[in-house]
Amino acid sequence: TDAVLEIRGLNVDYGLGDEAVHAVRDVDLTLHRGEVLGLAGESGSGKSTLAYGLTRLLPPPGVIASGEVLYHPDGGDPVDVLRMTLPELRRFRWAETAIVFQGAMNSLNPVHRISSQLTDVIKAHDPRSTPASRLARARELLRLVGISADRLDSYPHQLSGGMRQRVMIGMALALEPKVVIMDEPTTALDVVVQRQILRQLVELRERLGFSVVFITHDLSLLVEFSDRIAIMYGGRIVEEAASADLYRDPLHPYSHGLLNSFPALRGPKRELTGIPGSPPDLRAMPSGCAFHPRCPHAMERCGVEVPVLGTPGDVHPGHDAGENAPADRTVACWLHP
Ligand code: ATP
Ligand code: MG
Repeated sequence: TDAVLEIRGLNVDYGLGDEAVHAVRDVDLTLHRGEVLGLAGESGSGKSTLAYGLTRLLPPPGVIASGEVLYHPDGGDPVDVLRMTLPELRRFRWAETAIVFQGAMNSLNPVHRISSQLTDVIKAHDPRSTPASRLARARELLRLVGISADRLDSYPHQLSGGMRQRVMIGMALALEPKVVIMDEPTTALDVVVQRQILRQLVELRERLGFSVVFITHDLSLLVEFSDRIAIMYGGRIVEEAASADLYRDPLHPYSHGLLNSFPALRGPKRELTGIPGSPPDLRAMPSGCAFHPRCPHAMERCGVEVPVLGTPGDVHPGHDAGENAPADRTVACWLHP
């Protein structure tokens, strides 16, 4: 396959036993080589927990209850990230997968110049490099993310939020990762800056050939910049499809509601209706489909049986030819058994 990451049956809890909160439930998700995969869902749906879990950076009391995360190195045998030894994991994290966390732009060290923060990362990655080569590499990385080299001597507070964010991306790229995970890297930035940074990341992905998992609330950004989108609700993936298909024809009522919660950046205007009600309490999940109490189409079955994520049996006639083949999309909803 052309998969670079395959998440299978992943369950992540916070806490143990009766106290456990099931924040990620039975997640199956594949990241293909070179693609931008968007992950969307309301606050608390488990997006960050999924990102932390698959890289084993879960803060306590987070625990991976079950599952596997298969990483496919170029030309090598797949390895299960969840079963790696610590040294293997350290190398994997830095060399293969780079993460830019929620609020990461504020994690630059305020008392060190941009140059030394970049060269430190390069040195950690390649201890035998020379100071001169590290500086040259730092300059090149800044150029890649659209910052002029004379900013090397700046301190973080001398840069705008957007520039700091670009520096963080540059640091992530210092390691020539195969996978870049960005967890809402742009919430603190204005919309114009968000879009510029995302566009740049997508361009770099084409040039440097990495894959991206991009996590955000803002589905309109994902529709514009990602190849595929996975929607999370109450810790589960409820729908996954090519961006264009999801935008044109969302199958899950929750996806439909989310799409109508954000102004579209292009394409026909939708009426912004939002989703009534609030996300589920993970300690008291509704029976059956977790979305059923908020769903305008809920049927009796929805309150009883949890729908399984699978190929919709009934994708709209006329829509299921060629690139819209139903096999390209999955949904967990009794409207599409
Ligand atoms: P947001 O969009 O706000 O970033 P998210 O989709 O990233 O939300 P997570 O941060 O993954 O959501 O949280 C998923 C669930 O796990 C939430 O209900 C949250 O309250 C719970 N949770 C997160 N961290 C912890 C923790 N350290 N201990 C207990 N519960 C936690
Ligand atoms: Mg989050």
